[in-house]
Amino acid sequence: MILEGALDGQFPWISIPVEGLYDDPDFRREHFLSLRNEYLSLAYNAWRPAALLDDKGMIRRCNRLFSAFLGLGEGELEGVGLFDLIDDEDMPSFSDLFRELASEPGLSTVTLVRLLNRDGLAFNAAVLLRNCVDRPQAPGIILEVLDLSGSAQAKRLVDEFHKLLRRLGSDLQGNIMNIVGSAREIFSADASAYFRWEKGHLRVFAATRERRESLFLKDPTKALACRVLRRGAEEPLHVKDLASLGEAPEDPLASRVAARSFYGQPVMLLGKTVGVLCLYHRRPREYARDEKDSLSLIARFVSLEEEHRHQEQSLRDLIDVVAHELRHPISIVMGYAQTLRNYRGKLSEDMVDEILLRILQGAKRLEYITSEILEVSRVEKGRLTVVKEEVDLQALLVRAVEEMRAKGVTKPLILHPNDLPPVMADPEKVLEVLVILMDNAAKYSPDGAPVEITAGVGTDEVVISVMDRGPGIPVEDRLRVFEKFYQVEEAMHHSLPGIGLGLYLARELVEAHGGRIWCTGREGGGSVFRFTLPL
Ligand code: ADP
Repeated sequence: MILEGALDGQFPWISIPVEGLYDDPDFRREHFLSLRNEYLSLAYNAWRPAALLDDKGMIRRCNRLFSAFLGLGEGELEGVGLFDLIDDEDMPSFSDLFRELASEPGLSTVTLVRLLNRDGLAFNAAVLLRNCVDRPQAPGIILEVLDLSGSAQAKRLVDEFHKLLRRLGSDLQGNIMNIVGSAREIFSADASAYFRWEKGHLRVFAATRERRESLFLKDPTKALACRVLRRGAEEPLHVKDLASLGEAPEDPLASRVAARSFYGQPVMLLGKTVGVLCLYHRRPREYARDEKDSLSLIARFVSLEEEHRHQEQSLRDLIDVVAHELRHPISIVMGYAQTLRNYRGKLSEDMVDEILLRILQGAKRLEYITSEILEVSRVEKGRLTVVKEEVDLQALLVRAVEEMRAKGVTKPLILHPNDLPPVMADPEKVLEVLVILMDNAAKYSPDGAPVEITAGVGTDEVVISVMDRGPGIPVEDRLRVFEKFYQVEEAMHHSLPGIGLGLYLARELVEAHGGRIWCTGREGGGSVFRFTLPL
């Protein structure tokens, strides 16, 4: 008599040979009932994925839920070892536990492990093992699985993220290394790495199970990360099985850990791809949606570090530029003051006048530089406030020209009159923009060539243009001149003082009004700077 149908195929290996085993029919019935209860309870539990293993961990049978859980078709598990399905990181402790259990019939144990499905995806699972090798009905080790992936994965991620945040400090390179290491641990990857360009070299922060290191790649073109960096891609690059690439990848890290799968998550800074966070696994591997989300979150940690690095670089640039720009007016003021002191009483009135004028000009330059830096710091601390009121733009343009005269600008400034409607704007801020643009235009214009200022009305905005006959700005620099500290490299621009903050400030001020600012070339030579203010 075979009790197979009653278990509805859930435990196909459980067959209970009763006939011929016992002579006493009462004993037989009782024994059969107790066995039946035991196996019915097993069958009940078999609503979960379950399998029967031999004492070496080879799978002999399993129910359909088990093969479905692992993404395998029926029969595909035959001959597969349980250890092939356990995540490498959990293997040492799991194999110890299994060996102990296998040596003692009747022993049961429960443990938490990560099981891998056919796509290499890891599931957190509670695994119940029972040593039944001494039971003739189902000789072997019974394994039942409780899928905990959802809650356990979420808890584990939160724990890992906390751990990672605790490890982050003020050392930016160290932080990147820690993030790379955590990414490897969170994904149980065989290697993880962060690649970024540094002064024309590809730098890699790499973590394997054995070590962490940071180095420059000799031949960057071979790195898989380069495929992401070269495209400036915003989307991740996932190669489930590197064998599918045709040619064997020569990625140095992939070869070091004999990787079969690669995942490269771009790291963005200010809308640009600046690096790639990569994971390497020895098995072909799919990525679940929430894993992709977690990885892009980890990449965000890296981009925050990149942001800090960028800010530190900006600060260093600021110190360099400011120190360089201050030196000139300081030496003028000191030199002329020293002359006055040395030759007091021996200098004519005119000469003293000339010297005092130079000292005043030097001091003014110092005042200009410091006020520009203060203004930038105000803007960056988010303290830029625009208080709008009804502004007569034509009158404001006249004020700007007067201000330029007061600053001692002698080059011709021509204001083309126009009928302008009143605009809602912050007059002091718009004046600042006009002065920055006129100042530059006058600075770069050759002697005698006028700077022209026009204003026109569009459908929903006014457009103000400042035009000069200077050297013009090369097309490739026309966007970049609005960046902080950016100065055109060309020789013609070089002899003139400047710290590269004016246009950056102008853009911040215009955009705070909801307007745009840009620059074009001018027919016949020179530049045109235009900005808009919404009506
Ligand atoms: P600064 O003038 O202090 O260097 P800006 O931000 O005002 O800083 O300008 C950035 C750069 O843009 C300048 O260094 C110069 O190279 C270029 N530039 C700005 N205005 C003009 C102009 N009217 N003609 C030619 N080049 C200009």
